[in-house]
Amino acid sequence: MNTEFLFADRQLSLIRYPQKHQHVSLQAWDSADELIIEYIENLQSESTVAITQNSPLVIYNDDFGTLGCWFSHLKPLWISDSYIATRSLKENLAGNALLDNASDHASFEPVTVLTSVQPLPLNSNQTPSVVVIKVPRALALLAQQLIDLQPYLTPQTRVIAAGKVKSITKSVLALFEKYIGETTTSLAKKKSRLIFSTPRQDKKQHTSPYPTRWECKGTSGVALTLDNLANVFSRQSLDIGARIMLEHMTVSSNDVVVDLGCGNGVLGVNALAIAPDCKVIFVDESYMALESARLNVLNNFPDKIGQCEFVASNCLENLIAREPRPKVTKVLCNPPFHQQNAITDHIAWQMFNDARELLMKSGHLVVVGNRHLDYHIKLKKLFGGAKVLASDKKFVILGTAKR
Ligand code: SAM
Repeated sequence: MNTEFLFADRQLSLIRYPQKHQHVSLQAWDSADELIIEYIENLQSESTVAITQNSPLVIYNDDFGTLGCWFSHLKPLWISDSYIATRSLKENLAGNALLDNASDHASFEPVTVLTSVQPLPLNSNQTPSVVVIKVPRALALLAQQLIDLQPYLTPQTRVIAAGKVKSITKSVLALFEKYIGETTTSLAKKKSRLIFSTPRQDKKQHTSPYPTRWECKGTSGVALTLDNLANVFSRQSLDIGARIMLEHMTVSSNDVVVDLGCGNGVLGVNALAIAPDCKVIFVDESYMALESARLNVLNNFPDKIGQCEFVASNCLENLIAREPRPKVTKVLCNPPFHQQNAITDHIAWQMFNDARELLMKSGHLVVVGNRHLDYHIKLKKLFGGAKVLASDKKFVILGTAKR
């Protein structure tokens, strides 16, 4: 992996977390980061904006912490929906000696880190002077973030977004026009471009369309109500893979279940419907997914919330690292099969490896996937085999036990 970020006579060493699983061709920054840095450095050198504690810099969706590191001396507020992005920021701040207090493991100071489900910690005297947004893949997440920002903006706030030219679509610009104000773009440079949006004086506070809510039938026939925050997988309706899983899932009351890559938590909530005494650990790398899963346990089985845990993690690493480890007997998994626009199976591979590591002896991993993904080959390598528990024309559910 190329880790040396050299820009405007300054050098940072930047990784993508987890470093050991990255392809050599990947790096932690892109040309959109460079455009943002160049633009804000210019604003600073012309003294056009004053970034202070009462008029801070706010950064959204920094992929691997490049912007957080570069601007750390400005003490920015840094917001992300991704545990992996947040871990990358931490590693990169530490790796470049940018942390104020390296001895405190929980602290990111001088950067203030917030998840996408936390409100901005600003009082009525504080207004962001500059807001930087890396345009995310999910437009719903962008819409939610712009709605969240509205109350804190004044016409003097500089709202600057950036992304690859192909990701800056008419729909993206329409969201900025709708929620912020007049919006223009820069010329493209190295396949990226900037968006400039000027907050309206007469702002109307919009209400968010998220979470979206729908119902589906669980294994026992019971109706489950599912809320979905903006960045949740299959936000509008039940995923087809999850549907087959619901039709065929089995769980018993003494199971400790992990819903791995839980999204809105549909599989774990269904486990509670089948076996009301089981314990469920919901795991995802998206904070909106975990918050949706929490809402959905409360929506459907509020008295079971004490049997549930919601853990932000890259695959299962944070459960594996726990002392003592939870005694997990079943892992349910509908793995992610793409990252950005590329089809990839490396996260599924990591998830299966981690499940094998975490499961108790004779514990089960149950996986649903599109047939063409050939998960049975991976499971055979890791577990020595896998049984087809159910299938249809497109999907297959595979079950395997740890020997
Ligand atoms: N379980 C839900 C369902 O069946 O509808 C969601 C499945 S969705 C195909 C995969 C989930 O994995 C997404 O919610 C995504 O955020 C999560 N995910 C992706 N990469 C991850 C990682 N490295 N660690 C943990 N979860 C991850």
